[in-house]
Amino acid sequence: MEYWNPYIETLPREEMEKVELSYFKNILSYAKDHSILYREKLRGIEANDINSFEDIRRIPLTGKEELRRYQEMEPYPYGGVLGVDIKEVTAFRQSSGTTGKPVYVPETYESWQWRIETWCHILYMAGFRARHRVFLPFGYNVYVAFWEAHYASEKVGCELVPGGALDTKGRIYKIIETRANAMMNTPTYGLHIAEEARNMGIDPKSLGIERMLCAGEPMPEATRKRLEELYHCHVFDHIGGTEPCAWGSMCEAKQGLHIIEPFFLVEVLDRETLQKEVDEGQMGVAVVTPLGRRSFPLIRFNTYDVVIKGKADCSCGRTWKKINEVVGRADDLRKIRGVLFSPKTVEALIREEFQEIVEYEMMVERKGIMDEVNIRIEIDPSAESKAKEIEKRLKEKLKIRTNLSFQTKIEPLGTLPRYTLKAKRFKDRREL
Ligand SMILES: [Zn+2]
Repeated sequence: MEYWNPYIETLPREEMEKVELSYFKNILSYAKDHSILYREKLRGIEANDINSFEDIRRIPLTGKEELRRYQEMEPYPYGGVLGVDIKEVTAFRQSSGTTGKPVYVPETYESWQWRIETWCHILYMAGFRARHRVFLPFGYNVYVAFWEAHYASEKVGCELVPGGALDTKGRIYKIIETRANAMMNTPTYGLHIAEEARNMGIDPKSLGIERMLCAGEPMPEATRKRLEELYHCHVFDHIGGTEPCAWGSMCEAKQGLHIIEPFFLVEVLDRETLQKEVDEGQMGVAVVTPLGRRSFPLIRFNTYDVVIKGKADCSCGRTWKKINEVVGRADDLRKIRGVLFSPKTVEALIREEFQEIVEYEMMVERKGIMDEVNIRIEIDPSAESKAKEIEKRLKEKLKIRTNLSFQTKIEPLGTLPRYTLKAKRFKDRREL
């Protein structure tokens, strides 16, 4: 088995924990000394008092709202979260702002190199090597993940083809022209490229993609396998965010995601109390502390990512801890008629059992005192004669998987939106 950094990837757990505790103390005391946010927030908490992971649980979490609030002060635009002199900042990045005002992220040359190194682990674990010509089918703009993907590809020795400023058709032609053999995309866009290629009379398998790295949305195993089938390639998942960086990624065993240690301290906390770590196999919220980044120190950042905690045991030989599954964003998990509903369940069902469904959209609304949940679907023209039967079967399976009765509707092909980045296939209209 090959590792990007054999030493840290196979460090015995006991030593890893010592390293992480010591890194945590360092970044805590750095943050207190250099960022206004943490000088105020961590008053009374001293690094020297932190001697165990239990001690860490007493430190308050950091939320996105807080970051936004502290960014309103000087120096513009980073405000009180900045951890270095603003003259040291060499790159401006920002979050997508899909959940409100964006967070501006300062990187120094040094912190940027740190981010790239974490990403090298992601790529190397997913089998990206010097023989790969990697197609990145996005315009990068201010969004950090694409830039990380770009620079880390170079660092592991791949050759990178930037695919911005093209539409999907243009990107497919570019993949063919450059003979790119690896790609990075959201699961949704991977499916969309395959659909578009087939509309052009091109079998996605013939594109010659060997490796695909996905992120940006929770990817059920069925979607990952569907992409593997469509492209006849290996598909890997990873998780992260603009503020905490990418902190977990899949290895070639393809069973859950490894936490990239000791770059990150990741806690999986009980969803109700956010106070204690859950047991292996249990669902919790990921709280992430990047352990080596000065430009934008973050202590116990609440990612709102709901994950299932795994154990540090993998056939790849890495000693890194794992999460078994990314369930979704905490705000995507909704109570509908008293039942906890995750949109990912429906995504999994459709990719597993309804390959005739090319696109779908769900909405929950309040009708009187009742919640009504409906799903609109588009069916592949080749299966049109069986449309009614598919609709009926979907209704039954949805009821079994989610415990909810869905209203179903078949839409003409091309009615529903297609997504080129993150899909929004679930809308909750109850509060409007
Ligand atoms: Zn592994």
